[in-house]
Amino acid sequence: MRYLILADLHSNLEALDAVLEDARGAYERVLCCGDLIGYGADPNRVLDWARANVNLAVRGNHDRGCAGLEDLEWFRPLARCVAVWTSRQLNAENLHYLRELPKGPLTVDTFQLAHGSPLDEDEYLTPRLAEIYLKEYAESELCFFGHTHKQEGFLLQRGGMARIEAPVKDAAARALRLERGSLHALNPGSVGQPRDGDPRAAYLLYDSGERLAEFRRVAYDIVGAQAKILRAGLPEHLAERLAAGR
Ligand code: ZN
Repeated sequence: MRYLILADLHSNLEALDAVLEDARGAYERVLCCGDLIGYGADPNRVLDWARANVNLAVRGNHDRGCAGLEDLEWFRPLARCVAVWTSRQLNAENLHYLRELPKGPLTVDTFQLAHGSPLDEDEYLTPRLAEIYLKEYAESELCFFGHTHKQEGFLLQRGGMARIEAPVKDAAARALRLERGSLHALNPGSVGQPRDGDPRAAYLLYDSGERLAEFRRVAYDIVGAQAKILRAGLPEHLAERLAAGR
């Protein structure tokens, strides 16, 4: 089976459109590691697309916050401000969909999907935590996660843990054949708000039969997404950071 694996779309329709165009014909199923909304200006349109096209998604912290499932006191001021704006935009169908999103990790095929760490949906899977997770707790040989907005991966094999770097800046893709007997945690990167210094939208294709993962990046209409954020009256910083990829 060929999967399109997305994370951290964050209401960025321009980035999502570019990813779908770039990945066209390369997948049969769509999976999402959470945070469909928050930060960007198109929550309903991103959720309309998700309801119709995503086969399985786990919830992210922004999905939970915007769905009214938790006290926004825990959010940082910027995220809180956007969560309040976003929750006011949502129509009834999309609010219902958000509320029903399951908590990760979920098992799909032979792998797992999580938002943050598979052990705690709100925790960033840093290199240190990834090593602990892979050594002590991994329940499957492969887990996809999001939340850090960094396209990268971690690999545990006999020699210890290795870090898999995202595609270099001037490349569009990097393929990785997963060795049997090794454990992997892979972050497809953020579609809608990359924070790894590369402003291009990030995603991942995974062919479970071939055991082939491909990290991909695609340029999108950043100026268009920024203009919508400013028009919506959302904080300027949210528009600026899209261009910086930070
Ligand atoms: Zn996120």
